[in-house]
Amino acid sequence: MFKLPEITYPLSIDTIGKMLALGHEMTANCLNTGCGQSSRVNLVALGHRIGFDHSCLAQNLQRHFYCPKCRAAGRDDKRVGFIHLTLSNPHSEWPREREQWRQQIGRRAG
Ligand SMILES: [Zn+2]
Repeated sequence: MFKLPEITYPLSIDTIGKMLALGHEMTANCLNTGCGQSSRVNLVALGHRIGFDHSCLAQNLQRHFYCPKCRAAGRDDKRVGFIHLTLSNPHSEWPREREQWRQQIGRRAG
C-alpha cells in the first residue's frame, strides 16, 4: 500500500503520486525517428521504485527509462518522451452526478 498525496489548489500535477490520485495515466514513447516504441507506464510500480513524491516531468523521469527496441538495435536508447493522459469520460464524472445516477438506478430497482 501507499499513501496518495493531498490534492491542493491551485492544482499542479507534478508528482507520480498526484497523477495517481487524479486518475491520470502516462505512456513512454521513443523519440527516435522510425522507431515508434510506445508503452503504458505502470505508475504504481514506478512510484514504488523511485517514490510517489518523485517529479513526473519528462526531464526528471528520462533517466529511469530507455527504449528496448533501440537498445537491441544498438541505437541511442535514451531519447524517451512521455504523454500524460487525463481521466476522461465515463470515468471523470463529478461525484455528485455519479451519486444522483446511482440513486436513480436504486429507485428503479427498489
Ligand atoms: Zn526506440
